[in-house]
Amino acid sequence: VAECSEGTLPYEVTVLRLGHRLVRDERTSTHLGLVARAFGAKALIVSGDEDDTIESIRKLSQMWGGSFSVQYSMEWRRTVESWDGTVVHLTMYGDVLDAALEKIKADLDGSTSRRVLLIVGAEKVPAELYSLADYNVSIGNQPHSEVAALAVFLDRLFMGAELYTKFGNARMKIMPNSIGKKQVVSDED
Ligand code: SAM
Repeated sequence: VAECSEGTLPYEVTVLRLGHRLVRDERTSTHLGLVARAFGAKALIVSGDEDDTIESIRKLSQMWGGSFSVQYSMEWRRTVESWDGTVVHLTMYGDVLDAALEKIKADLDGSTSRRVLLIVGAEKVPAELYSLADYNVSIGNQPHSEVAALAVFLDRLFMGAELYTKFGNARMKIMPNSIGKKQVVSDED
Protein backbone atom coordinates (compact mmCIF):
# COMPACT_ATOMS: atom_id res chain seq x y z
CA VAL A 1 0.00 0.00 0.00
CA ALA A 2 1.34 3.43 -0.94
CA GLU A 3 2.37 5.75 1.87
CA CYS A 4 0.72 9.17 1.91
CA SER A 5 2.16 12.33 3.41
CA GLU A 6 0.58 14.15 6.30
CA GLY A 7 -1.97 16.64 5.04
CA THR A 8 -3.20 14.49 2.16
CA LEU A 9 -6.15 13.02 4.10
CA PRO A 10 -9.43 14.60 2.96
CA TYR A 11 -10.57 15.99 6.34
CA GLU A 12 -8.83 17.88 9.13
CA VAL A 13 -9.79 16.42 12.50
CA THR A 14 -9.15 17.90 15.94
CA VAL A 15 -10.04 15.70 18.91
CA LEU A 16 -11.47 17.38 22.02
CA ARG A 17 -11.06 15.30 25.17
CA LEU A 18 -13.54 16.44 27.84
CA GLY A 19 -13.33 15.96 31.60
CA HIS A 20 -9.69 14.91 31.96
CA ARG A 21 -9.08 13.98 35.63
CA LEU A 22 -5.75 14.11 37.50
CA VAL A 23 -3.95 10.76 37.85
CA ARG A 24 -7.00 8.68 36.90
CA ASP A 25 -7.10 9.76 33.22
CA GLU A 26 -3.41 10.35 32.55
CA ARG A 27 -2.87 7.04 30.80
CA THR A 28 -6.15 7.05 28.86
CA SER A 29 -5.70 10.65 27.70
CA THR A 30 -2.14 9.86 26.58
CA HIS A 31 -3.50 6.90 24.63
CA LEU A 32 -6.16 9.17 23.14
CA GLY A 33 -3.43 11.50 21.92
CA LEU A 34 -1.40 8.67 20.41
CA VAL A 35 -4.44 7.12 18.74
CA ALA A 36 -5.63 10.51 17.43
CA ARG A 37 -2.19 11.11 15.87
CA ALA A 38 -1.73 7.59 14.51
CA PHE A 39 -5.24 7.48 13.04
CA GLY A 40 -5.07 10.72 11.09
CA ALA A 41 -6.18 13.54 13.42
CA LYS A 42 -4.17 16.78 13.31
CA ALA A 43 -4.57 17.91 16.90
CA LEU A 44 -5.77 17.12 20.41
CA ILE A 45 -7.33 19.59 22.82
CA VAL A 46 -7.52 18.40 26.42
CA SER A 47 -10.07 19.95 28.76
CA GLY A 48 -10.44 19.33 32.50
CA ASP A 49 -7.63 19.14 35.06
CA GLU A 50 -4.23 20.38 33.91
CA ASP A 51 -1.21 18.06 34.35
CA ASP A 52 1.79 16.66 32.42
CA THR A 53 -0.30 14.67 29.92
CA ILE A 54 0.02 17.30 27.19
CA GLU A 55 3.79 17.45 27.59
CA SER A 56 4.18 13.67 27.41
CA ILE A 57 2.08 13.46 24.21
CA ARG A 58 4.18 16.29 22.72
CA LYS A 59 7.41 14.45 23.49
CA LEU A 60 6.15 11.22 21.93
CA SER A 61 4.96 13.11 18.84
CA GLN A 62 8.35 14.76 18.44
CA MET A 63 10.07 11.40 18.62
CA TRP A 64 7.77 9.73 16.09
CA GLY A 65 7.53 12.74 13.75
CA GLY A 66 4.85 14.77 12.05
CA SER A 67 3.09 17.94 13.09
CA PHE A 68 0.45 16.70 15.54
CA SER A 69 -0.39 19.48 17.98
CA VAL A 70 -1.60 19.24 21.59
CA GLN A 71 -3.21 22.01 23.61
CA TYR A 72 -5.11 22.55 26.82
CA SER A 73 -8.50 24.32 26.86
CA MET A 74 -9.86 25.87 30.04
CA GLU A 75 -13.17 26.55 28.34
CA TRP A 76 -14.44 23.57 26.35
CA ARG A 77 -17.78 25.31 25.66
CA ARG A 78 -16.04 28.20 23.93
CA THR A 79 -13.92 25.73 21.92
CA VAL A 80 -17.09 24.00 20.72
CA GLU A 81 -19.15 27.14 20.10
CA SER A 82 -16.39 28.92 18.19
CA TRP A 83 -15.48 25.88 16.06
CA ASP A 84 -15.31 26.71 12.37
CA GLY A 85 -16.46 23.38 10.92
CA THR A 86 -18.46 20.30 11.87
CA VAL A 87 -18.83 19.17 15.51
CA VAL A 88 -19.17 15.43 16.12
CA HIS A 89 -19.70 13.97 19.61
CA LEU A 90 -19.03 10.26 20.13
CA THR A 91 -21.50 8.74 22.57
CA MET A 92 -23.09 5.33 22.98
CA TYR A 93 -26.50 7.09 22.89
CA GLY A 94 -25.90 8.61 19.46
CA ASP A 95 -27.01 7.85 15.90
CA VAL A 96 -25.90 4.66 14.19
CA LEU A 97 -22.38 5.12 12.77
CA ASP A 98 -22.99 4.22 9.10
CA ALA A 99 -26.00 6.49 8.65
CA ALA A 100 -24.33 9.34 10.55
CA LEU A 101 -21.06 9.04 8.60
CA GLU A 102 -22.88 9.30 5.31
CA LYS A 103 -24.41 12.63 6.39
CA ILE A 104 -21.17 13.89 7.96
CA LYS A 105 -19.14 13.15 4.82
CA ALA A 106 -21.78 14.78 2.61
CA ASP A 107 -21.63 17.90 4.83
CA LEU A 108 -17.84 17.98 4.81
CA ASP A 109 -17.53 17.36 1.09
CA GLY A 110 -19.93 20.24 0.44
CA SER A 111 -18.08 22.66 2.70
CA THR A 112 -14.86 24.56 2.11
CA SER A 113 -13.40 24.02 5.59
CA ARG A 114 -13.52 20.20 5.88
CA ARG A 115 -12.70 20.63 9.58
CA VAL A 116 -14.10 18.30 12.23
CA LEU A 117 -14.09 18.76 16.00
CA LEU A 118 -14.41 15.21 17.34
CA ILE A 119 -15.44 15.12 21.01
CA VAL A 120 -15.01 12.27 23.48
CA GLY A 121 -15.73 12.23 27.20
CA ALA A 122 -14.16 10.67 30.27
CA GLU A 123 -17.03 10.33 32.72
CA LYS A 124 -20.52 11.71 32.17
CA VAL A 125 -20.41 14.59 29.67
CA PRO A 126 -22.40 17.83 30.20
CA ALA A 127 -25.97 17.37 28.93
CA GLU A 128 -25.82 20.52 26.78
CA LEU A 129 -23.13 18.91 24.61
CA TYR A 130 -25.80 16.80 22.91
CA SER A 131 -27.42 19.94 21.51
CA LEU A 132 -24.17 21.83 20.87
CA ALA A 133 -22.87 19.03 18.62
CA ASP A 134 -23.94 18.86 14.96
CA TYR A 135 -23.86 15.04 15.23
CA ASN A 136 -24.06 12.64 18.18
CA VAL A 137 -22.67 9.37 16.88
CA SER A 138 -22.48 5.92 18.47
CA ILE A 139 -19.90 3.25 17.73
CA GLY A 140 -22.36 0.51 18.57
CA ASN A 141 -24.73 1.08 21.49
CA GLN A 142 -22.73 -0.75 24.13
CA PRO A 143 -20.57 1.13 26.64
CA HIS A 144 -16.85 0.78 25.87
CA SER A 145 -14.01 3.25 25.71
CA GLU A 146 -13.26 6.68 24.28
CA VAL A 147 -10.00 5.29 22.85
CA ALA A 148 -11.79 2.51 20.96
CA ALA A 149 -14.59 4.85 19.83
CA LEU A 150 -12.01 7.34 18.51
CA ALA A 151 -10.02 4.69 16.61
CA VAL A 152 -13.08 3.18 14.95
CA PHE A 153 -14.55 6.54 13.97
CA LEU A 154 -11.29 7.85 12.45
CA ASP A 155 -10.62 4.62 10.61
CA ARG A 156 -14.13 4.64 9.13
CA LEU A 157 -13.89 8.35 8.25
CA PHE A 158 -10.57 7.88 6.42
CA MET A 159 -11.36 4.34 5.19
CA GLY A 160 -7.99 2.97 6.34
CA ALA A 161 -5.83 5.42 4.37
CA GLU A 162 -4.63 7.08 7.61
CA LEU A 163 -2.63 3.97 8.55
CA TYR A 164 -0.17 4.66 5.73
CA THR A 165 0.65 8.24 6.68
CA LYS A 166 4.33 9.12 6.48
CA PHE A 167 5.33 11.28 9.45
CA GLY A 168 8.10 13.73 8.51
CA ASN A 169 11.15 14.46 10.71
CA ALA A 170 10.74 11.28 12.74
CA ARG A 171 13.58 10.35 15.07
CA MET A 172 12.09 6.91 15.45
CA LYS A 173 10.62 4.87 12.63
CA ILE A 174 9.58 1.24 12.28
CA MET A 175 10.36 -0.90 9.25
CA PRO A 176 7.47 -3.38 8.92
CA ASN A 177 8.83 -6.86 9.35
CA SER A 178 7.23 -10.30 9.65
CA ILE A 179 9.68 -11.56 12.29
CA GLY A 180 11.19 -9.55 15.11
CA LYS A 181 11.56 -5.79 15.43
CA LYS A 182 13.18 -3.42 12.97
CA GLN A 183 13.41 0.14 14.19
CA VAL A 184 15.37 2.95 12.62
CA VAL A 185 16.76 5.76 14.75
CA SER A 186 17.47 8.93 12.81
CA ASP A 187 20.27 11.25 13.88
CA GLU A 188 18.88 14.19 11.85
CA ASP A 189 18.51 17.44 13.82
N1 SAM B 1 -20.98 6.63 31.60
C1 SAM B 1 -20.45 7.59 30.71
C2 SAM B 1 -21.54 8.41 30.05
O1 SAM B 1 -22.67 8.27 30.42
O2 SAM B 1 -21.22 9.24 29.18
C3 SAM B 1 -19.60 6.83 29.67
C4 SAM B 1 -18.21 7.24 29.75
S1 SAM B 1 -17.16 6.35 28.61
C5 SAM B 1 -16.08 5.52 29.68
C6 SAM B 1 -16.13 7.63 28.03
C7 SAM B 1 -16.39 8.07 26.64
O3 SAM B 1 -16.22 6.99 25.76
C8 SAM B 1 -17.76 8.62 26.33
O4 SAM B 1 -17.91 9.96 26.75
C9 SAM B 1 -17.79 8.48 24.81
O5 SAM B 1 -17.16 9.57 24.19
C10 SAM B 1 -16.97 7.21 24.57
N2 SAM B 1 -17.78 6.02 24.32
C11 SAM B 1 -17.94 4.94 25.12
N3 SAM B 1 -18.73 4.03 24.54
C12 SAM B 1 -19.09 4.53 23.33
C13 SAM B 1 -19.90 4.06 22.25
N4 SAM B 1 -20.52 2.88 22.29
N5 SAM B 1 -20.03 4.83 21.16
C14 SAM B 1 -19.39 6.04 21.09
N6 SAM B 1 -18.63 6.54 22.08
C15 SAM B 1 -18.47 5.80 23.18
